Amino acid sequence: MIIAVASGKGGTGKTLVATSLALSLKDSRKVRLLDCDVEEPNAHIFLRPVITGKEAVCIQVPKVDEKKCTYCGKCAEVCAYNALAVLPDRVLVFPELCHGCGACSYLCPEEAISEQGRETGVVEWGNADGIEFVQGRLTVGEAMAPPVIRRVKEQADGNGVVIIDIPPGTSCPVVEAVKDSDFCLLVTEPTPFGLNDLVLAVETIRQLGIPCGVVLNRAGVGDNKVEEYCRKENIPIMLTIPLDTEIARLYSKGITLAEGMPQWRESFGQLFDSIKETVDERNRSLKR
Ligand code: SF4
Ligand code: SF4
Repeated sequence: MIIAVASGKGGTGKTLVATSLALSLKDSRKVRLLDCDVEEPNAHIFLRPVITGKEAVCIQVPKVDEKKCTYCGKCAEVCAYNALAVLPDRVLVFPELCHGCGACSYLCPEEAISEQGRETGVVEWGNADGIEFVQGRLTVGEAMAPPVIRRVKEQADGNGVVIIDIPPGTSCPVVEAVKDSDFCLLVTEPTPFGLNDLVLAVETIRQLGIPCGVVLNRAGVGDNKVEEYCRKENIPIMLTIPLDTEIARLYSKGITLAEGMPQWRESFGQLFDSIKETVDERNRSLKR
């Protein structure tokens, strides 16, 4: 089962929930945590894994052979990302805009374009006290997160429980990281900003056809508009974590709820049981 842990807004405690869930399940089942928040991966701060391997992530960008090129302009025409500009006597390539789709080299009538790898990030893996751990890191200054996310997600095999820490927001990297999940947990807080971004996140997740539920973090800090919205939209609030100075203190030291306040393990276990029930029920209804 693949569980995505997302939040429309950054700083809602998404990683705290993902890592606490992983630690609460690891004694009873095989658990793998994939940190797809590749611009700022921080699950490692909570899990402190021993990294045992890493691999560069490259995308293929065009290299033009000026001896063969006739400056016909076809390559720039087909590039949807404006990564090529053809001048009367030169072809300019802007590698940082290239998505590595291969259309230009495929369609060049003179076969003047070859491809060369450009590193955009790295995937690292290891083990964190029985949890299989994988994280992606986007190279600083790089904008192309999806290829790194795809490589991290290749590690989501069908065995056990896979928990994915999703980047915040609702843009392309989020869609890439969430798609193909069985369930999406949306972590939010009861504030106007939390509600605004939750609404956007729910719209995105619904478009992907993935069932979702909410974890309400820092309950007590704001109003009850998030609860009202969830009731109206029939979205279950599956776990409520109160605004609590002890939790904030642990969080600031990189200690999960499951470690620092072990009584929470039962709550996360129940959260997993509810997710499993929802996923099983959905699978049964899809088979009918
Ligand atoms: S399509 Fe090929 S031949 Fe035409 S400008 Fe581009 S590289 Fe040159
Ligand atoms: S590989 Fe695709 S994105 Fe990159 S320059 Fe060629 S057409 Fe544009």
